[in-house]
Amino acid sequence: REIDLEELPNVGPSTAEKLREAGYSTIEAIAVASPQELSSAADIPESTAAKIIAAARKFANIGGFETGLTILERRKNIGKITTGSKALDDLLGGGVETQAITELFGEFGSGKTQICHQLAVNVQLPKEKGGLNGVVVVIDTEGTFRPERIVQMAKAKDLDPDVALENIYVAQAYNSNHQMLLVDNAKELANKLRKEGKHVRLLVVDSLTAHFRAEYIGRGTLADRQQKLNRHLHDLLRFGELFNAAIVVTNQVMAKPDQFFGDPTKPVGGHIVAHTATFRVYLRKSKGELRVARLIDSPHLPEAEAVFKITERGIED
Ligand code: ADP
Ligand code: MG
Repeated sequence: REIDLEELPNVGPSTAEKLREAGYSTIEAIAVASPQELSSAADIPESTAAKIIAAARKFANIGGFETGLTILERRKNIGKITTGSKALDDLLGGGVETQAITELFGEFGSGKTQICHQLAVNVQLPKEKGGLNGVVVVIDTEGTFRPERIVQMAKAKDLDPDVALENIYVAQAYNSNHQMLLVDNAKELANKLRKEGKHVRLLVVDSLTAHFRAEYIGRGTLADRQQKLNRHLHDLLRFGELFNAAIVVTNQVMAKPDQFFGDPTKPVGGHIVAHTATFRVYLRKSKGELRVARLIDSPHLPEAEAVFKITERGIED
């Protein structure tokens, strides 16, 4: 069962509230925090913070070992969702994997949101058609979710558009803390849906980094942002393992270096995202409806490129 923060020793309602506001919305998030971090977030002494962390670790079973066999059993259940393009699926080793984070990064208009929409439709398909008979949770931070686009894509896959839309649970995230909290809410939702026989097999965060970038722009240190982003990514990965769901996040790279800080060719979040994402796909525009996807430093797939199309029907070869 899910543990409430208030059940931890030394955490009363006001401390719990402060922790949630600072983005520590789960027991796991607290378990992997440092006493200094937690102390300043909740305005409590470091010694108290250390006690809270120790208790959270016990509840979360952090640092617990699993046998190789347990991990192998879990990995046997890994599912793959077709992107709609054979070339893109092949690049990814068969499609977008569950229990892993796939990061789509690229400039504005490169197709990140389109792929998210397509996966939200395709995950609903039966296995023989490249789906997982699943439902999907979308955390939309930029207000770019378009039901009309889902209708187009669902029709192209011979799905009832209303049913397809009913299987997509969308929440708008208003800021980075809210975005992190929504992963918690998604867990609750997924547990509830599971009892109804519906399985969340895909969680989309579009965009992972926009709020973080906007809120931390121009600050002297990015350490805070990176720490929060790190926590967020681990929450997401945990969701993926818990529900055998694919995690797909988007990340924008900057086209105009003079307007922004940092290296324009690097996606926001830098190495934190790079280390946590299992698959990183760099998208760029080509002629007309053509797009090029490049797989970047995957642990077990070669770095390669694939060409696909964005048409009215969706993502295609
Ligand atoms: P981003 O990477 O910024 O999220 P998008 O995924 O929103 O980019 O891609 C936008 C592009 O997708 C548009 O420029 C257009 O080329 C294509 N697109 C969007 N909707 C349609 C559609 N209904 N039919 C064909 N192409 C579309
Ligand atoms: Mg987008």
